[in-house]
Amino acid sequence: MSKSVVIAIDGTAACGKGTLAKRLAAHYGFAHLDSGALYRLVGFGVLAAKGDPGCETDALRAARAIDPAQATDMRIRSMEAGQVASVVAAMPVVRDAVLQIQRDFAANPPDGAPGAIIDGRDIGTVIVPNATVKLFVDARAGVRAHRRWLELKASRPQGPGAPPMLDEKAVQVEIEARDARDRQRAVAPLKRAPDAALLDTSDLSIDTAFAAALALVDPKVKIALAARPRG
Ligand code: C5P
Repeated sequence: MSKSVVIAIDGTAACGKGTLAKRLAAHYGFAHLDSGALYRLVGFGVLAAKGDPGCETDALRAARAIDPAQATDMRIRSMEAGQVASVVAAMPVVRDAVLQIQRDFAANPPDGAPGAIIDGRDIGTVIVPNATVKLFVDARAGVRAHRRWLELKASRPQGPGAPPMLDEKAVQVEIEARDARDRQRAVAPLKRAPDAALLDTSDLSIDTAFAAALALVDPKVKIALAARPRG
């Protein structure tokens, strides 16, 4: 188990946990791991190999071949990649295949960072149950859908042949379907750890949500940083 300073952030789809995790990481100089990107890479790998996302053999082959350095590939950010990610993420063999990447990151944050922040669905419950501090982030589904729709609109390819823009309702249906699958799966379901602080960002701007997240984690992070062995 990890002895380093670890902030675990879990939450629903498109709740803003990734943005909060990046800002907290910048604030503390911690390393950040977006664990959802690992499952997105697995799903994307299955599709790229023309496999079947519902087939464990195809999903496991893709999980063993992922390269976390590819997490910045924008193709894994599509709605389709999100849905396929949540299908493969329900398979215990896939979760086992990416578990160690996350635990290693928590125990030994890269580049000598003094701590790690990991965001996902099961970070505080399964991956790092002894994390220094845990947050569970949520927002009303309509608010999350609107934010995700704005992001998709901003990143949409332009020009002739560009795919038609999805409407906001379709985005809401997608994130609610994903949350339902993530909550109902048998292994490592999406849920709040009993010791996670709850942050509802529905009515908060990004800056206000960041200030609220910082106020929740800062006391424990400060104590843990001060207690770190020197040298
Ligand atoms: O966080 P993001 O929306 O990118 O995650 C994509 C999908 O990956 C989620 O819907 C979920 O099924 C899966 N996931 C997971 N456990 C995590 C992170 C993500 O099951 N720790």
